[in-house]
Amino acid sequence: MALIVLKFGGTSVANTERLFNAASIAEKAWRDGEDVVVVVSAQGDTTDELLQKAAEICPAPPAREMDMLLATGEQISISLLCMALYQLGCPAVSLTGWQAGMTTDSQHTASRIRYVEPGRVKKELAQHKIVVVAGFQGVDEYSDITTIGRGGSDTTAVALAAALGAARCIIYTDVDGVYTADPRMVTGARKLDEITYDEMLELASMGAQVLHNRSVEMAKRHRVDLEVRSSFTNEPGTLVREETMESRNVSGVARDLDVAVISLTGTADVPGIAYKIFDRLAEEKINVDMIVQSAAENGQKHICFTVDQEHAARALELIKRQGDVEYRDLAMDPDVSKISIVGAGMAGSTGVASDMFEALYEQGINIMFISTSEIKVSVIIKSEDTERAMQAIHDKFFG
Ligand code: ADP
Ligand code: ASP
Ligand code: MG
Repeated sequence: MALIVLKFGGTSVANTERLFNAASIAEKAWRDGEDVVVVVSAQGDTTDELLQKAAEICPAPPAREMDMLLATGEQISISLLCMALYQLGCPAVSLTGWQAGMTTDSQHTASRIRYVEPGRVKKELAQHKIVVVAGFQGVDEYSDITTIGRGGSDTTAVALAAALGAARCIIYTDVDGVYTADPRMVTGARKLDEITYDEMLELASMGAQVLHNRSVEMAKRHRVDLEVRSSFTNEPGTLVREETMESRNVSGVARDLDVAVISLTGTADVPGIAYKIFDRLAEEKINVDMIVQSAAENGQKHICFTVDQEHAARALELIKRQGDVEYRDLAMDPDVSKISIVGAGMAGSTGVASDMFEALYEQGINIMFISTSEIKVSVIIKSEDTERAMQAIHDKFFG
């Protein structure tokens, strides 16, 4: 008998009707004779509402208490889904992250999974039950509840699939697969039948929230057979795998609004400037993404870089306080976004980046930064241009 892991996102369990819909998908697999593990997210906007509740009481709540609060959302879903399965005549049992053996580090609200000991899951499966596990949560070495970052239930599902040696992990969501761009934003976005782990990892890391990027990283490392499909239709979804039949120059376009640019102008053209700035940021665990340094002119150079919005103010403060780096101006711009194109075939072909730049030029959109890797080109633009840029770049490659 094969073991499968099914994951249902927040929209797919948002109300009673959808809970029964998710339950009947699990029921069908179970009646077909599969061993079924289900991972669920909090219903609808529950996690956002919990964040809002916390913010009303405390503007900067202790991360441990946030985790205690946020983990409740998934606990509601697992119990309700088991009740729906009970109504359908299926034996089911709900397990929290801790009960399912999900052990994480203690980085509250952004924990990493250390290991999974799914003994209890196996025991329940052996009794032919559907095992329903709370996504997004775990427990650390001090038995404190942790959460693994927004969108993390995908990663819970893949981690369980890897630990249990599941034949497949199916991510049920509110779109019927991975598209060439967010279909809610870009007209003409197309569903992909398949995509490589590497491409999906880049797209997810560059802002395509359809999969949590760490779930893709984990699926690649443990060779988990992953599929993204809709819980609302019976259409085949997108397979995420090592290789695809054909390698495309561009598989998708993504955008990330969680970016801020920090610019230092007029720093001295002497050794050690970059080291002093970025070492200080690294000490504070501030992740720097793109870095651009100009050629020196009249003994001065300019350094610009991007960080996520959450860390922008702190990064600015650290540079201001840094006594040994002189500069003329220091500025922060939070009104920017990053647009990326991703494709495994890009490495072996020419003109892909220039097509992207042409699409932006035709719209009169100015590029602030450019960065490239083997299978990706990213640009930073003003955030007000985001939607126009996404559509124009998508039209250029897929129109
Ligand atoms: P879930 O709650 O099921 O985890 P998410 O909201 O996290 O669902 O992810 C699904 C959403 O991802 C879609 O509704 C869609 O708007 C968005 N999305 C962004 N980029 C893409 C893409 N390339 N393909 C499909 N969906 C995408
Ligand atoms: N409920 C969590 C969130 O909204 C985890 C998830 O949905 O994957 O981010
Ligand atoms: Mg999600």
